[in-house]
This record gives sequence, structure tokens and C-alpha cells, in this order.
Amino acid sequence: MPLEKKYLDLIQGAFSYSFENEVLERFSSLFDCVVATNEKINITSLLSPIDVSLKHIVDSLALFCDDEFLSHIDRAQMICDIGCGGGFPGLPVASVRKDKKIAMIDSTEKKIVALKENAKILNLENVDPIWGRGEELAGKDGKHREKYDLCLSRAVARLPVLCELCLPFVKTGGIFYALKGAQALQEVDESSKAIPMLGGKLVEVKKIDFDLSFALKMDFSEEEKEKIEQFARAERYLVKIEKKKATNVIYPRKWAQMTKKSL
Ligand code: SAM
Repeated sequence: MPLEKKYLDLIQGAFSYSFENEVLERFSSLFDCVVATNEKINITSLLSPIDVSLKHIVDSLALFCDDEFLSHIDRAQMICDIGCGGGFPGLPVASVRKDKKIAMIDSTEKKIVALKENAKILNLENVDPIWGRGEELAGKDGKHREKYDLCLSRAVARLPVLCELCLPFVKTGGIFYALKGAQALQEVDESSKAIPMLGGKLVEVKKIDFDLSFALKMDFSEEEKEKIEQFARAERYLVKIEKKKATNVIYPRKWAQMTKKSL
């Protein structure tokens, strides 16, 4: 069942960025895709219309609250989403910017198979699902190494590990956006060595706030209103890291090393 109009109004109302009707319809089908996929494989525990609308779609689109992101995506020729899982943030981003091709990478094959099916259902020819481990695809001889102008990632690892996984994908002059929650500032502190070691430079940790008070007057249940308030209260940040110079070929290391002894 597609998303009811009130959820689409909630998504649109969260942003000053205005989405075309076709895009909102795609969000509605995306909800269907998430629910149908989750019946076959476990991609998320957040499956109600309010949860998918807020915690997957609005949360992924937080990128569009950043004016600099809008100019980065305008300029970017090559974009990737690392550890995209069921398709976040890549599918909402690709739904808004159908003119931009997004390589969506995940190490779990069945998620990539599902993503291919969902991209077809959503008519998103700009989505390029790729099965593989990030550390291999962007390793020393990996064909995705230093190929991307813009790299995105949400909910894959703590920032020091995430930087080692993602920064090797980014071209010198490109940028990495990590979508993070309340732990962002602490993770940024933990990454003060990793970021320059990988050729990066922290440019900004941008706090994103959503004013969803308008939705409390809408026809949502009390439970949904509570979720809306909780979502609006939750802290979220965009951690922006520019690629200043090529990453040393010794990075990324194997996953076990990265996670056992992060930089
Ligand atoms: N980004 C999605 C989201 O926000 O809903 C999925 C997050 S899920 C918690 C983490 C995903 O990262 C999983 O789908 C997992 O398969 C993938 N992943 C973990 N390590 C990876 C690696 N080294 N290379 C590529 N994908 C990886």
C-alpha cells in the first residue's frame, strides 16, 4: 500500500526545498518497496508509514537542508553511497536528483539484488547497485578508488572506521558527507588523526534541525505525534570532510584491522 497523502505532506513540510509531485509519488512507492523487501530479507525494523517517512526518507534527505550540499550535488559527476543497505540515503537522494547517477555499494549480496529490483520498480535508471566490500572496491587496485566527487554514508560504522572505508572512494577535491546522530561530535573527536592520515580535512559538522510543529495539528494518531516530536528532538549532523590529497595506498586496511584498531 502506498504512503497516504498526509505522510507525503509531512515529508514535504519538513523541508524548505520543494519536491516535485513525481518525486513525492516516488517516496510513496519507496515505502511499498521497503515493506515488500523486508518481507523477503531483513533490511530494517522501521516499517510503519511514520517510521519510514521520518527515519528513512526525511533523515536521508537532511542532506538537502545544507546549501553547500546542493552545490556539491549540482557539480558532482560521480556520486556513491557506501553501505547503502536497503537504499539509504541513496534512494531518496536519487529520487530527488534523477539527473545524477549514484553508485550504491553494499557488501550484502541479497540487499543489492533487492536494490536492483526496487530501482526498477521506482524507475530510477540513475541508481547503480554494486555488490562488494568497500575496502576492496576502493583498495589499492580497486576500480572505484578515488573516482567519486561526492560520497555519502549513513549508519555503517563509527566515524574513524567510516573515514577509512569511504575517503579512499573520494577524488582529491571531492567531499564525503557522513550522516550522523547524537554521537557525531564525539566521533569527530575520535577521528582527529584518521581524517588527515587519509588525506581528508574536516570542513564542518552541521547540525540539522527539523521544525515539525506543523504536523502536530495534522491528522496523525497520538502515537505518531509522539514519534514526530521525538524525531524533531533527536540530534542529527552532517559531517563534511573534504579530500585534500590522495589517500596512501596502505588504506583502507582489511575490515578486521580497521575495526580492531581504528586510525
Ligand atoms: N545505510 C543504510 C541505512 O542507513 O539504512 C544501511 C545501514 S546498515 C546498518 C549497514 C550496511 O553497511 C549493511 O547493509 C552492511 O551490509 C553494509 N556494510 C558494512 N560493512 C561494509 C563494507 N565494509 N563495505 C560495504 N558495505 C558494508
